[in-house]
Amino acid sequence: MKTELAKDFIRQIIDEDIENNSSREVITRFPPEPNGYLHLGHAKSICLNFSVAEEKKGKTFLRFDDTNPVKEDEIYAESIKEDVSWLGYNWEDRLTFASDYFGDLYQAAITLIKKGLAYVDNQNAEEMKNNRGTLTEPGKNSEFRDRAINENLDLFKKMKSGDFDDGEMVLRAKIDMSSPNMNLRDPVIYRIRKYNHQRTKDKWCIYPMYDFAHALSDAFEGITYSLCTLEFQDHRPLYNWFIEQLETDHRPRQIEFSRLNLAYSLTSKRKLNDLIEKNIVDGWDDPRLVTISGMRRRGYPPESIIDFCQRVGVTKKDNIIEMALLENCVREELGNSTQRRMGVLDPIKVTIKNYDKDNIEYLEAQNHPKIPEFGSRKIPFTNEIFIERSDFLEDAPKKFFRLKPGGEVRLRYAYIICCEEVIKDSNGEIKELICTYDPDTKSGSGKSEKKVKGTIHWVSKKHAITSEVRLYDRLFHDHNPGSSEDIQSSINPKSLKISKAKLEESLGEENAPNSFQLERNGYFCLDAKLSKTGKRVYNRVVTLRDTWAKIEKAALSG
Ligand code: ATP
Ligand code: MG
Repeated sequence: MKTELAKDFIRQIIDEDIENNSSREVITRFPPEPNGYLHLGHAKSICLNFSVAEEKKGKTFLRFDDTNPVKEDEIYAESIKEDVSWLGYNWEDRLTFASDYFGDLYQAAITLIKKGLAYVDNQNAEEMKNNRGTLTEPGKNSEFRDRAINENLDLFKKMKSGDFDDGEMVLRAKIDMSSPNMNLRDPVIYRIRKYNHQRTKDKWCIYPMYDFAHALSDAFEGITYSLCTLEFQDHRPLYNWFIEQLETDHRPRQIEFSRLNLAYSLTSKRKLNDLIEKNIVDGWDDPRLVTISGMRRRGYPPESIIDFCQRVGVTKKDNIIEMALLENCVREELGNSTQRRMGVLDPIKVTIKNYDKDNIEYLEAQNHPKIPEFGSRKIPFTNEIFIERSDFLEDAPKKFFRLKPGGEVRLRYAYIICCEEVIKDSNGEIKELICTYDPDTKSGSGKSEKKVKGTIHWVSKKHAITSEVRLYDRLFHDHNPGSSEDIQSSINPKSLKISKAKLEESLGEENAPNSFQLERNGYFCLDAKLSKTGKRVYNRVVTLRDTWAKIEKAALSG
């Protein structure tokens, strides 16, 4: 762990429990519904569940909550497994499905009926809704509420055998229609869904509802801490009711924490799905999304995501975390793990007129300024090079220390050059710069005392490889795009910029690193998806400095 963090309230509760009962185990679960890909919010939950257990030598289950066959798919389940593994967590032999317990859940429902605690209701959805009452008014008992136990058993069995159609009846827990907590107003626990389930196929045509399946699956697996997000706080009494009435061997404890929201981003599967269906992004793994697959493709190392989740911490307070925090974690991780390379994103040609046009000089370049173990490489220098268009200004202000007419600048690892002439095309656009170099100023040679204030990056024109580079900006203009239903209107049309970059020769080599820092331009990573077609495409993972802070400030000052 990079940062020493204070114990959050969940860890404090666990510590207290263990203090009071030294045999208390920590068994947690991550319970995704396989109806979409995982996002950064899920990463927070994964990180929390796996790490609290790990810290106490406990265990974590990966349990798919596959109780709604209509929305779920095997593809999602596979992607979820891949994402959890990629984050570095291992569920070992504890991969389970709520559907593994369909038999036990059915038996539990029968037990509730036998105890007079559940009944089959023939009211349709509309009637049930109308009779549910409001926050200020109690609900009305269903006319079927006092059905005899035997009749309930018979009808429930018939529901299971497929004798009734979808929506014709449901099984409800018999709790209290006037409870101030709406969740306790006789919640539905089973419904009919004549739909082929991804795993159990046509074995079942009745499916348990989330609250019932979730609480009991936790109990069946011996989960001790069921950690979930705050919207389940009001469901906790129901969770506990199921556990108590069914007298399960294990009594899990539900603890809620706040959801993670990230500024300018979406962390809702439903809304992400909407973006994908409208073709606004290139699938679930679009590098502009904070889905785990998107962040992986973008080039975020898993360690940086975990570091981020740890820094955000676990609280009960809802808030929106700034993008800068996530990007700083990515920068910090990549800063220490990637080699440096040179590459020009928006090239302009420079001809060095006093340098022998047939000469190629191989110059020594460090692979990392602070980690000598990363070694060095040779980069070719010739009379024609590319520099960044923005590193030259014709009418430069005094404080501009890069290249300007008549001005000097150092080429990284090479020589000091002076700009003698600017060549333009018929549109007045700068086409080429003619420079001279000072042979005594070779980096590291110590021959000349000459000093200049600016150093710029460059690549040899003859050796450069041309690659597509994708530069990203935030996908939304809106600080909290999830709060609006009209996603389309908050999309930033300039969130993706594609450029043809000139990269140094070594990046074309067989063993070239897939992620690296391009000096002064940011961290880059090979796009694993686009590069499958043979062409190399790089994503800018993150810039070197926090450009967001600047954007934020500008936005605030109007
Ligand atoms: P979404 O709203 O994106 O559909 P969900 O809660 O419906 O999310 P699940 O698959 O049910 O998705 O979530 C699995 C687990 O991840 C749950 O325990 C849930 O509480 C947790 N989780 C989901 N979103 C977040 C979030 N933004 N922050 C923290 N935990 C989250
Ligand atoms: Mg959910």
